[in-house]
Amino acid sequence: QAKAAGRATYTFYTSDMLVRTKRRGRIESTLLSESFGEQFHLAFQPITDLATGRVTSVEGLVRWRHAAADRVSPQEVITVAEETGLIVDLGAWVLHEACEIATTLPEEINMAVNLSPLQFGRSNIVDIVSRTLKDTGLPARRLDLEITETLLLEDSPRIVDDLRALRALGARLSLDDFGTGYSSLRYLRRFAVDKIKIDRSFIEEIGRNRDHSSIVHAIINMANSLGIRTVAEGVETAEQLEIVRAAGCSEVQGYLISRPLRKAELDRFLTDRPGW
Ligand code: C2E
Ligand code: MG
Ligand code: MG
Ligand code: MG
Repeated sequence: QAKAAGRATYTFYTSDMLVRTKRRGRIESTLLSESFGEQFHLAFQPITDLATGRVTSVEGLVRWRHAAADRVSPQEVITVAEETGLIVDLGAWVLHEACEIATTLPEEINMAVNLSPLQFGRSNIVDIVSRTLKDTGLPARRLDLEITETLLLEDSPRIVDDLRALRALGARLSLDDFGTGYSSLRYLRRFAVDKIKIDRSFIEEIGRNRDHSSIVHAIINMANSLGIRTVAEGVETAEQLEIVRAAGCSEVQGYLISRPLRKAELDRFLTDRPGW
């Protein structure tokens, strides 16, 4: 009985692994192809000010244009890109594309771009950002760079220098997925970020789980007292929106306001929806 179950599990596991391996191979060869820019596009998710209902920024999120792409999450593409080191090229492409498109948006709207920790270790991110801003003509103050706690955890002087240099260019820094890593208040003083994005996993549970609610309140209070703006990620219900608003959160991002949109859809969204 146990043996049969074990074998069944084993069979399932290997075929699942095979599918994954094949899929990863396909992602990898897409990333390696010379025209890889044609195989990806960006989707843009609006981030809204809770006080005014106006869009403050949009987050550019990578999407893979492949027949099977609907079954492959962006997270998986990013993971393969990180494991192969191809994230350096993909990340630079995303940055350029996002900045170029940002120049076609209303001036008061910023563009948020995710940076992988590996883009710091394996490339000169300061040069890449500064060159991209020059090439596209996007003013640095309109670029929000999203970094994760994992990056800060490395606690390396080179990363501290890079982050300072990026801010010195005029770009803004957001701490993404806050609360999921080894969040430390120490980072917030040391690295001077402009925004904290509270991870979706806390927002999801906010009306139901008292610990999560307390954590969200604590993050918002702490950020407010340090003069750092907060974004609640993954707001899906009106109830969640009201809770984070009452808690003093600055901005929201989530399906309740909008899913990530293609550029043409974003343009329509921005004209149709000037504020609350
Ligand atoms: P993230 O940076 O935290 O981006 C937010 C993710 O949450 C997006 O997933 C977005 O579609 C999703 N989301 C937003 N609102 C809601 C909601 O109300 N409900 C639910 N269920 N989900 C919501 P996406 O586009 O699948 O991206 C996943 C992650 O992949 C991103 O998380 C980011 O870490 C990574 N990623 C995406 N594009 C890039 C990129 O260009 N570079 C890097 N380094 N990472 C990227
Ligand atoms: Mg992000
Ligand atoms: Mg996020
Ligand atoms: Mg997240």
